[in-house]
Amino acid sequence: ISEKTQHFLDLEDRYGAHNYHPLPVVLTRGEGVHVWDVDGKRYYDFLSGYSAVNQGHCHPTIVAALVEQASRLTLTSRAFYSDLLGEYASYVTRYFGYDRVLPVNTGVEAVETALKLCRRWGYVVKGIPENKAKIIVCSENFHGRTLNVVSFSTDPVARRDFGPYMPGYEVIPFNDLPALARALQDPNVAGFLVEPIQGEAGVKVPDDGYLSSVRQYCTDANVLFLADEIQTGLARTGKMLACDHENVRPDVLILGKALSGGMLPVSAVLADDAIMLTIKPGEHGSTYGGNPLACKVAIAALEVLRNERMADNAAQMGEMLRQGLASLHSPFIRVIRGKGLLNAIEIAHQNPDAAWDLCLALKENGLLAKPTHGDKIRFAPPLTINADQINECVGIISKSLETL
Ligand code: PLP
Repeated sequence: ISEKTQHFLDLEDRYGAHNYHPLPVVLTRGEGVHVWDVDGKRYYDFLSGYSAVNQGHCHPTIVAALVEQASRLTLTSRAFYSDLLGEYASYVTRYFGYDRVLPVNTGVEAVETALKLCRRWGYVVKGIPENKAKIIVCSENFHGRTLNVVSFSTDPVARRDFGPYMPGYEVIPFNDLPALARALQDPNVAGFLVEPIQGEAGVKVPDDGYLSSVRQYCTDANVLFLADEIQTGLARTGKMLACDHENVRPDVLILGKALSGGMLPVSAVLADDAIMLTIKPGEHGSTYGGNPLACKVAIAALEVLRNERMADNAAQMGEMLRQGLASLHSPFIRVIRGKGLLNAIEIAHQNPDAAWDLCLALKENGLLAKPTHGDKIRFAPPLTINADQINECVGIISKSLETL
């Protein structure tokens, strides 16, 4: 570690809260699939800001939109109209096929919005008795970090000493249709919140047919299907939405991350009138939600995904990456899984820190990835990556595995 790098590590360590444990690399520039550290070393970014940078770092079209709008008008609040919110709302609803959008900022804020909408719909449309609404969620879920959302996390690290927890949730196993059927027997269930592929849990892909059965079960039980596509959406898994793999349309679609191509926090909840119009003026909102800068950037970010056919590229390059990893026949890779460019490997090694050590070796060799839950490493480069680059990256991974 260079003196310069150490300086920045020390600054964060000394003055920042210790709520993350980053890899010791200090980045200063990004372009496309690459980032550069303060010593000028170039890396492949295999995390993509936890899938916020699907379009590649500093995509020129999105930067241009950001810069142009930044010197024109950035924030009005929702006390007034802007000339961009309506344009964005009509664009994003047509893009995904919903009646309405509720714009917010971060991922977890969109999840909270969806949960409020779901409870509200449960009372005023479904007729659930006051304060009895229940929402079903999955074990090993990751939907963010607010007190409400960690209340239904099953990760002890996310929950410990943050109680008391919010009631009104029931946790069932992911990818377990009989458990869902049982939980749906309660007439007070308002919704089922699920990640179509569990990202933070280590890219857990459910069985084929799971999502279409979820859709059917929710319809039959008059329960809302809420899809958290914050990580899986926006071309990451080889389709615009992960739900598209099974031609399934959730009642409430939750988007974030790459909705701005990594430029600023932009998230959204999409739903039809019968759900969305249950929330009235003053009942929900956010100062920055739907700000003109975010609207302009989000339109550009969505245009880029479609114009540059990033979903197709993610499907092809993902296939190539998984095949390349499989062809290594490494004794240290227990599992390779994923869809499109949302992938993970599980490390098999007697050293419990092997995944972390492998990420350090990858860093030395010019590729950045981060372990999750000890033994899993996500491989999720920007969706602009090409075949030569995938081959080079498989070479880097192969070389790094030899250091274990
Ligand atoms: N939901 C999912 C599926 C996520 O992957 C994440 C972030 O990783 C979130 C919600 C939370 O998003 P944010 O960190 O922007 O609040």
